[in-house]
This record gives sequence, C-alpha cells and structure tokens, in this order.
Amino acid sequence: MSTVIRTENLRNTFAAPTSPALDQRARPLRDLRISVTDRCNFRCTYCMPREVFGSDYAFMPHSDLLTFEEITRVAQVAVGLGVRKIRLTGGEPLLRKNIEALIEMLAALRTTEGAPVDVTLTTNGTLLEKKAAALKAAGLGRVTVSLDALDDQLFERMSDSKVSVKTVLRGIEAAARVGLSPVKVNMVVRKGVNDAQILPMAEHFRGSGHILRFIEFMDVGSTNGWNMREVMTGEQILARLRERYDMQPLDAGYRGEVASRWVYADGAGEIGMITSVSRPFCGDCTRARLSPEGQLFLCLFANQGHDLRALIRGGASDQALSERIGGIWAGRDDHYSEIRGRETVIKKIEMSYIGG
Ligand code: SAM
Ligand code: SF4
Ligand code: SF4
Repeated sequence: MSTVIRTENLRNTFAAPTSPALDQRARPLRDLRISVTDRCNFRCTYCMPREVFGSDYAFMPHSDLLTFEEITRVAQVAVGLGVRKIRLTGGEPLLRKNIEALIEMLAALRTTEGAPVDVTLTTNGTLLEKKAAALKAAGLGRVTVSLDALDDQLFERMSDSKVSVKTVLRGIEAAARVGLSPVKVNMVVRKGVNDAQILPMAEHFRGSGHILRFIEFMDVGSTNGWNMREVMTGEQILARLRERYDMQPLDAGYRGEVASRWVYADGAGEIGMITSVSRPFCGDCTRARLSPEGQLFLCLFANQGHDLRALIRGGASDQALSERIGGIWAGRDDHYSEIRGRETVIKKIEMSYIGG
C-alpha cells in the first residue's frame, strides 16, 4: 500500500540519534500518545460535561487536524528519539474516519535497530465490536476499553449516553477474540458515584483474561468540577477489593508503567491501580502527547503545547523536526502531579482534547 511506501521513504531521509532523548529530570522519551480527534459520542461527566460540550460547542474543523501522513511523520521522528510505544486516543479515536489506515502506517514504523513499535489504542468501546477485526488486521497490538460501571442506569448517567453496557462488553469480547489482548479495562472511580461498582466490576472481570484497572478521578481540564472529596484513592480501592479477595502485589513490568499491579491470590488474574492523585508517578513519566492539530504537550496538565503543524506545513525537514522535538523534550521539567495543590495552573487542557 502506498502509505507504507511513504513511511519507508521517511525512514531513510535523516540520521536518527542513537540514544533516547532525556529531559531535565533524566526521563527518556519512550511513549507517544496521539489524540486523533477532539470529538466523542459520549459526554462522560468527568471528561466532557454536556453543559460545556453541548450542541453549540465548536469542535476542530477537519482541515485543522493533522493528516495521517503528518501524524506518521511526527511518530517516525519520535521513534528516532526513543519512542517505543504509541497509543491512539482522543476524544473517541474510533470516530476518526479510516483509522485503520493510520494504524497500518504506524505499525510499519521501525526503530533504528529495525524493531517494530507497540501500537495501542484507548476507546470507549462503542464501535469496537464492529471494528476489532479490521484494527487487528491493520497491525494494532492491544486495546484499552473504558467502562465505569456494569449497572446500565449508572453507566448511562456517567457517560451521558444511551449506549448500553452490553455494547461495550461485546466490544471487549470481540477485541479479545481477534487477539487484541490482554484487553485492559479502565474504570474511573468517583467516590459516591460509582465506587459501589468496584466489587461487581472485579467479580465480572476476574478470570476473564482482561485486566481491570482502577483510575483515580483526576483534576484534568477545567470543566469537570473536580473535587478531592470525590477521589477514591488506590489504597481505598484496594481495601474494598480486600474485603472480598486476597490480593498480592506484582512488580512493575517496565520503567514508566503507570499502573501498580496486583493479582488475585487464587490465580483469577491481574488488576491495575492508577494512582495519579494519591501516589504520583512523574519521576518515571516518559510520555509526550500530540494533540489532533499537532501541538506537542509534555504533560497531561500542561497549559501550553508546542506547534509542530506549523513546522511541518512550513516545509521543515525530518532533521529539523527531530531537532525541534528533541529540543522540546530536553527542556521538559513537568511534574504536575507531584506539586498538585501547591502550585496552581490557571487553565489546563481538556482530557478530551489531549487523551488519557
Ligand atoms: N474516548 C476514549 C475512552 O474513553 O477510552 C479515549 C479518550 S479518554 C479521554 C481516555 C481515558 O481517560 C479514559 O479511560 C477515561 O476514563 C480517562 N479519563 C477521562 N477523564 C478523566 C478524569 N477526570 N480522571 C481520570 N481519568 C479520566
Ligand atoms: Fe469521550 Fe472518553 Fe472523554 Fe468519555 S472519557 S467523554 S468516552 S473522550
Ligand atoms: Fe507525567 Fe504530567 Fe502526569 Fe506527572 S502529571 S505523570 S509529568 S503527565
């Protein structure tokens, strides 16, 4: 396919640095999260509250979005700087037309040593049953599916949609069937809203081969009315699980892994805990984020990005692009979660714009 040929050409146009780029805190650039759209078919109350993201909300026009070729070019340069994992996110990434073509282009990328990069995707699962096989065929490695409750009414309330839990569960099963596994299931826990679903969710996914991950409700963006009182900490979530199950800790799989890992002592599988609020992991944060229109962000809580689209559309060479991204990363000092509450960021970017 022609797109792959273009990627091959890219690979040979400049000499990529041989060691990974390091930031001010000696963190290597290893992960690239690419938000492919700011649109979504859900209005999760903690992410895109309908009062803000209503029918008159101005989403980005298509012409502002990076094209698949432009995204792949940034990704290839980032791989040259050390990136080994690429995650597609959004908004809802499966709403981006022909996303399979982008996956195919990204899956064709190779490191300077000739190794492929890990290409994954986070989705709300509504379109997953239909698309799982095509995503796998395009070269996607795994998926993460967000699901905050098994109770239909609560799920509808939290996602502010008419989609049923069954639709998402069917998406998860379809993904596992085609080999996009292990499927990770992300549950954002909001105290007093869905914490009563912790045990039912654990019970449902135990023994399924899928990895349920509990996420602390975060103060991303400026629109979700975040309040520390609604944060159920990882420790509290674990205590809830231990009311019913014997849980044992697992070592981290690799540097920069965001979830702490636990297993059921009876062998029924693994769960993850993402404690960005109570136990920040900035010291190991190796992620850069690319927005739909080509702004590079160095932190989920940054209030400013670096415009790569202007550079690309202005005709910059791969060498120049590499120097720019490497320079941006070298100047990175972000560690917001470690200083949360001590310093106030005036206006943060929205999660639906930059992805989780
Ligand atoms: N639409 C896709 C989805 O929901 O999976 C991908 C984008 S979504 C922004 C990525 C992840 O961020 C989801 O797992 C979502 O639950 C999580 N998320 C969104 N807002 C959050 C918040 N305030 N705190 C914690 N996680 C959040
Ligand atoms: Fe959409 Fe995902 Fe945000 Fe929910 S969390 S509104 S599904 S982008
Ligand atoms: Fe990384 Fe920023 Fe999150 Fe810290 S707060 S882990 S630097 S994204």
